[in-house]
Amino acid sequence: MNALAATNRNFRKAARILGIDSKIEKSLMIPFREIKVECTIPKDDGTLVSYVGFRVQHDNSRGPMKGGIRYHPEDAGSEMNTHSYNDYVEPDEVNALAQLMTWKTAVADIPYGGAKGGIGCSPKDLSFSELERLTRVFTQKIHDLIGVNTDVPAPDMGTNAQTMAWILDEYSKFHGYSPAVVTGKPIDLGGSLGRDAATGRGVVYATEALLAEHGKSVKGLTFAIQGFGNVGSWAAKLFHERGGKVVAVSDITGAVRNPNGIDIHALLKHKEATGKLADFSGADVMDSNDLLTQECDVLVPCALGGVLNRENAGDVRAKFVIEAANHPTDPDADEILSKKGVVILPDIYANAGGVTVSYFEWVQNIQGFMWDEDKVNAELKRYMTKAFHNIKGMCQSHDCNLRMGAFTLGVNRVARATLLRGWEA
Ligand code: GLU
Repeated sequence: MNALAATNRNFRKAARILGIDSKIEKSLMIPFREIKVECTIPKDDGTLVSYVGFRVQHDNSRGPMKGGIRYHPEDAGSEMNTHSYNDYVEPDEVNALAQLMTWKTAVADIPYGGAKGGIGCSPKDLSFSELERLTRVFTQKIHDLIGVNTDVPAPDMGTNAQTMAWILDEYSKFHGYSPAVVTGKPIDLGGSLGRDAATGRGVVYATEALLAEHGKSVKGLTFAIQGFGNVGSWAAKLFHERGGKVVAVSDITGAVRNPNGIDIHALLKHKEATGKLADFSGADVMDSNDLLTQECDVLVPCALGGVLNRENAGDVRAKFVIEAANHPTDPDADEILSKKGVVILPDIYANAGGVTVSYFEWVQNIQGFMWDEDKVNAELKRYMTKAFHNIKGMCQSHDCNLRMGAFTLGVNRVARATLLRGWEA
C-alpha cells in the first residue's frame, strides 16, 4: 500500500469514528491545490538539467498551509528525470505528506493547515550554486501561490536554513521583504532560536510524556535510532543527556552499536570529522538492516517512510516505537506491532516539534520580537505535553490506540473549522 493510500485509510477510519458526514469526509481528503512545475537550470559545466518541483496544498481551514520542502531523489519525483511520464508515481508521497501536515498542525493546535513540497533531485550531487539556482527557479514558479497568510514552507529532508534563505530572497524580489514567508531560516534572517533542534527535542518531549504514562522515564532505558541527520542526531543527543542509553545508531553511511550505550557527543564529533559512523572507537559496526530489530526498549525511526513493514515488523524487539520520521510504519507493520503489544507514538504527534517551533518563528517575525531559547523550549514542551493529553483524551473517548487518538483529534479540529467556515459561495 503506498503512502497516500495508507494515510487516506487512517483518515477514513478516524472520520468514521467521529461520525463525519461522507460529503465532508470527501472534501477533507481531496487536496486544496496541487502544483507541479518544471525547473530547468544550467549546471556549473553549462549543460541544462530539468527537474520537477511540487507543492501540494492540502487544507487551509485552520490557517495558512504549512509544511516542508524536500529535495530527495526517491521521495519527490526524480523518476521524472529518467523515466517516461507514466512511471512517475511520487506525487502520491508528497500528497500523503501534505495531508499528514494538516492533521499534524491540528494535533499540535497551531493555527495552520497542511502542505508539502519537493523537488525530485539528489542534493548531494548538486553543487552549492546549482542548489541555489534550482531553489530560486522553483521559487519563481510558485511565488504567487505561497505567502505569509497563504502557505509557509520550511526545511525537510535534503533542505536546510540556507535553502529557506534563498526562497526568502527570491520571494522578496516579487513581494517585498517578507521573513515570515518561510520558517527554519538562519537566525540572521529572522530564524528562531531552537528551531534547528526542535523536531528532535519535540520527539524527546513526546517520548517523555508517553513514558510517564507507563511509569517510566528516559533514564536507564535503551534506544535504537535510525537516521542521524537533523532529527535523529538531536533526539539521540537529548536522550543521551537525559541518561538514556543509545545502543544503536544508523545513517546512510552505515550503522554502529554498543549494548552499554554510545557516547553521542563523541559520535557526533567523529561523524563531523570523518563524514561517517564507521570506525568510531566507542561502538562496533553493525548491518544497517538490523537496526530496526535491535534489542532495545525504544525504537526511534528518524529517516524515510515505510521502513517498518510486513518483512521486519515481526522481528522488532522494542516495546515502544516513536515515529520521528513521517509514516515510518506501514499499515501491515502497524497491525503486526500492535498485536505484539508494541506501543507506537504516531508521527503526526511525535515529530510535531519542528512545525510547532516554525509557528513560534512565524509569530516572532510577525511580532518583530525575538524570544530567547529557554522560552522557545519551554513553550515547545507545553505544546507537546498538552497535545499528548489531548490525544489520550480521544483514546479514552473512542477506545482507540494512540494513532487513532491523534488522527481523531486532528481530523475533528479540522472538520469543526471547515463546518464553521461553511461552503456558501
Ligand atoms: N518538515 C517538517 C515536518 O514534516 C517541518 C514543517 C514546518 O516546519 O513547516 O513537520
